[in-house]
Amino acid sequence: MKQKKLLYTGKAKSVYRTDVKGKLIVEFRDDITAFDGGKKDTLRNKGSYNAGVSAFIFSCLEKNGVKTHFLEMLDEKRMVVRELSMIPLEVIVRNLAAGSIVRNYPFKEGTPLKPPVIVIDYKDDSRHDPMLNDDLIVALRIATPAGLKKIKTIALRVNALLSGLLAKQGITLVDFKMEFGWQGKTIYLGDEISMDSMRLWDKKTGESLDKDVYRFNKGDVMATYNRVAARITKTPGVAKKTVATPRKTRKQAR
Ligand code: C5P
Repeated sequence: MKQKKLLYTGKAKSVYRTDVKGKLIVEFRDDITAFDGGKKDTLRNKGSYNAGVSAFIFSCLEKNGVKTHFLEMLDEKRMVVRELSMIPLEVIVRNLAAGSIVRNYPFKEGTPLKPPVIVIDYKDDSRHDPMLNDDLIVALRIATPAGLKKIKTIALRVNALLSGLLAKQGITLVDFKMEFGWQGKTIYLGDEISMDSMRLWDKKTGESLDKDVYRFNKGDVMATYNRVAARITKTPGVAKKTVATPRKTRKQAR
């Protein structure tokens, strides 16, 4: 398969056309951002850790009947995916209160949310991804009531499968974000599921094992991503890779 023209560059991934109709290449770059792009860095190997974890999780979900855009890995950072018509929603499932819902609502951090809480944001950086409700989603014609119901059902199924998978590795899935898209009349899980899009806590120590390490300067980000990628994919080989040293952004280097 040949990589063709660049279609889209996001904050941490680039999407390319290919010479095969209906298939795209997603490149997981080494860029990391937080706080609406307010904090930015390039961390060596980050793209391959996130790509590897995403591919592993998508494969596990597929084996359990969840339709995802994942097709195959071309190399450590490039994933071949189905071309989807993306739905501009960020679907977040929360099992424990943390992050923005603790800042915005009177939840104590770590409070279990049973049943899990689904929060849906409008994916629009220029509007800072505002939270939506069902009526707004339908009024904006982003999804029909039936389409939205389907998205929520898939989101809860993914949450159950992923929580179980991670629990086996001693990891609590606190919350995570999903994006969906259409191919024909079928809804597929798209984008990525990685340390950038999940909030993960070590079951024994409570230690953060995700992008919160970067957001809040909790430690060596790439050492954490390296260890957690090895734990999730159960491949000790990943952990043997050289631990990356963060490369300073131009702004920091000045
Ligand atoms: O910041 P907040 O607590 O709302 O994030 C909830 C979850 O969704 C976290 O796991 C976070 O990493 C993920 N998220 C994301 N992309 C966004 C917003 C949140 O992956 N744009």
